[in-house]
Amino acid sequence: MCVGCRKRASVGELLRVVATDGQVVVDERRRLPGRGAWLHPEPGCLTKAERRRAFPRALRSSGTLDVTVVRRYLGRTAD
Ligand SMILES: [Zn+2]
Repeated sequence: MCVGCRKRASVGELLRVVATDGQVVVDERRRLPGRGAWLHPEPGCLTKAERRRAFPRALRSSGTLDVTVVRRYLGRTAD
């Protein structure tokens, strides 16, 4: 399920992300260790996930997580 729009999707349609040192990073090969979250590779879903603080919850991380890397990956600037 996508943590942004909360719609079900197959793993092949979603991007796996994991938390590393307070940052959410894209796990392109889907082999990084740890808890992963799944997201449609779309800026809109990233924004929705950020607004509802879905990443810290899905990734079991306390505090905020920086999604700059993911945003850049999706072809957007931080603003
Ligand atoms: Zn989505």
